[in-house]
Amino acid sequence: MRGRTIPENSLYVGRFAPTPSGPLHFGSLVAALGSALDARCHGGRWLVRIEDVDTPRAVPGMAEAMLATLERFGFEWDGEVLWQSRRAGVYAAALEQLKAGGHVFPCACSRRELAEVPDSALARDGSRRYPGTCRDGLPPGSKPRAWRVRAGGTIRFKDAVQGCQEEDLARDVGDYIVLRADGVFAYQLAVVTDDAEQGVTHVVRGADLLGSTARQIHLQTVLGLPTPAYAHLPVATNAAGEKLSKQTLARAVDEAPPAHMLVSALSFLGQNPPDGLAAASVGEVWAWARENWNMECVPRVLQWYAPEFSHP
Ligand code: GLU
Repeated sequence: MRGRTIPENSLYVGRFAPTPSGPLHFGSLVAALGSALDARCHGGRWLVRIEDVDTPRAVPGMAEAMLATLERFGFEWDGEVLWQSRRAGVYAAALEQLKAGGHVFPCACSRRELAEVPDSALARDGSRRYPGTCRDGLPPGSKPRAWRVRAGGTIRFKDAVQGCQEEDLARDVGDYIVLRADGVFAYQLAVVTDDAEQGVTHVVRGADLLGSTARQIHLQTVLGLPTPAYAHLPVATNAAGEKLSKQTLARAVDEAPPAHMLVSALSFLGQNPPDGLAAASVGEVWAWARENWNMECVPRVLQWYAPEFSHP
């Protein structure tokens, strides 16, 4: 199964889509920088979207702090920032479209029930694969909690960094959630709807999301939306191989001078910045980066240890 591809001559539209659950750390800076540079080097637009659809996870004031940090680091986005928390009506319309097409079904399973099902083997990303309990109708007397998409088929795509990818949705993921039991629309539905509405042609983001891409292409296909080109950048980890995040005590990027951080992110992305660039101004770093950005130099690995930025 393949999504409708976007014609190669359309204007490049890229985006950075952080979740405001913690301050910007080195890993998010890498994704922001890679997506912005790739867009600018193609003469494209670069958008910022705040992914606060998961309102219980969003930390109040964090999105504004992230935007201020991006500005201090010399990022310039096009147009207005899109806030997912203001778009529940749009996601609800997408869910209605999925219902009308028979692509989704209500699910009554609780987390505990799913954890107890013996044959729900682990999916590729380590989460539990849905065993199909409610696929053909809710068990008598049970109440719907969530909505799931009927997943099937093999998704293939070529990632600009990670190469050819293939996922058998039924085997590797199972029927996936689009509306959670707590009434929150799932990340997959929000991302696909927003990328299409914003006309995003190129998704450049961390390789921790490589495993979500097949689901997103599947959703694009059933919703009749175009499929962008994908490039998944290596994820910055600590010495234990854990992704840098608030949970793994990653340093906030605000703690070091912006030019120094930007140059470290360029090195991490295999761009080989010259000695001494870290002492230049933020504007000079951007000028060098725009001139020299090359996606082909990005290491073809899923993750990469970033010693300088792991611990406070
Ligand atoms: N909001 C996601 C994150 O912060 C990124 C989603 C995406 O780029 O598709 O990890």
